[in-house]
Amino acid sequence: MPVTRIFKTEKELQDAIRAEELKHTVRFVKQWRRQIASNEEGLSPDGKRVRFEDEGHPSPVINIPYEGTPFIIINNEVYECQHGPQRMKGEKKDVLTSKTTKKLNCPAMIRIRRIMKFPEYKINGPSTKKAKMALSSTLKRSLSDTTIRQLVIYATIASNEEHKNHAIGENAGYCQPLYGDIIRKIKELAEEGHRKVTSVKLLLAQYVREHLAPDIPETNRRFYPTSKDIRNHIYHTVVGGRLVINLKAHYWSKGLMA
Ligand SMILES: [Zn+2]
Repeated sequence: MPVTRIFKTEKELQDAIRAEELKHTVRFVKQWRRQIASNEEGLSPDGKRVRFEDEGHPSPVINIPYEGTPFIIINNEVYECQHGPQRMKGEKKDVLTSKTTKKLNCPAMIRIRRIMKFPEYKINGPSTKKAKMALSSTLKRSLSDTTIRQLVIYATIASNEEHKNHAIGENAGYCQPLYGDIIRKIKELAEEGHRKVTSVKLLLAQYVREHLAPDIPETNRRFYPTSKDIRNHIYHTVVGGRLVINLKAHYWSKGLMA
């Protein structure tokens, strides 16, 4: 069974996902999110159930054990491997490479539950139903902007053994779309005026070694794009950039843009 880890911030979680993706050359795609409380509501327990535990769920829902502190559930989220099950709706298309990611029914996923804890209302003494109910109503009554809130993110990130039906690690690099940072870097270089594929290729390799993944072999196409890929991205940046400038000039001339 995969291990459930606890994260205190969104960044910690995203860094952990990224580390896993880089380590095994896999990619996870957000599949769905069930919002229970909105982040903008100041995470008030109004109308939401105040809980002390949330257990007994069958997999894949993460169970939250009793710790004495009341909480509300913010949301549940699932990321699937990019080679995960075929979906009817929301099929992700990689716009930049214009290729739909191949689905191979890989079961590997990341399950996430975000909760908001109210540590000032921790139960002291036995956890009777009465004590829980009393604390819940006190919490709802006395909640204010100064109430201490603590975000806790529970996440189980699939290990490399859970990926099925496709290559992972070094071998996976051949069939993977380019890493997002690589595309951004090509764009940046093109915007700086670099047009020569060979020099962009060298600068990219340097960038990967210094900033992204020093140990990844140059055969990995996710980090080391082919000359053709580089040429395409330079072209799109240059042509795309011109289009925006032309549109601006157009609106400017019509007095539509300040
Ligand atoms: Zn997979």
